[in-house]
Amino acid sequence: MLKVYSASNLPEAHLLVNLLQQAGVAAQILNTYAQGASGEIPFEQAYPQIWLEDERDKSLAETIIRKYESTPSDVEWTYCRQCGERNPANFELCWQCGKDFNRGE
Ligand SMILES: [Zn+2]
Repeated sequence: MLKVYSASNLPEAHLLVNLLQQAGVAAQILNTYAQGASGEIPFEQAYPQIWLEDERDKSLAETIIRKYESTPSDVEWTYCRQCGERNPANFELCWQCGKDFNRGE
């Protein structure tokens, strides 16, 4: 396991993990439940962190993350009608509650 990035919020972390997975990089988010926890954890460590399952994916992951950081305005967001969470517009399921965006109410 190798930490490659600290996202500024959970939707961004999920977006990046999705981008990495599309490129075949196995990644996961850690520390997601630290946000809003009582003050025991230093603030900067409370950001959601992206960890690679295989360190050999590091350079590819960093390339993807740099590309993401250089073009943040390309990201379009949509809001889940069920839970209100922000999701990248290309997601088919809400990362928070699992709602299928392609299906009607
Ligand atoms: Zn939702």
